[in-house]
Amino acid sequence: MKIFFNCICKEKFFLFSSYKNNLNINICNNCHPYYTKKKNFSDNSEKIKKFNKKYEKFFK
Ligand SMILES: [Zn+2]
Repeated sequence: MKIFFNCICKEKFFLFSSYKNNLNINICNNCHPYYTKKKNFSDNSEKIKKFNKKYEKFFK
């Protein structure tokens, strides 16, 4: 099953998952400091933690 993620930064992407619904997310690999390697990584560490916890099952 292909699911679509719609991020608040306007980025859209999809993943294959057993999950059946599309998701609206607050952060993605386009605006995620972990992926973009921005220097404000630490400022967003709590946000990333929450994000990873919430969506980790989709990113295995
Ligand atoms: Zn994004």
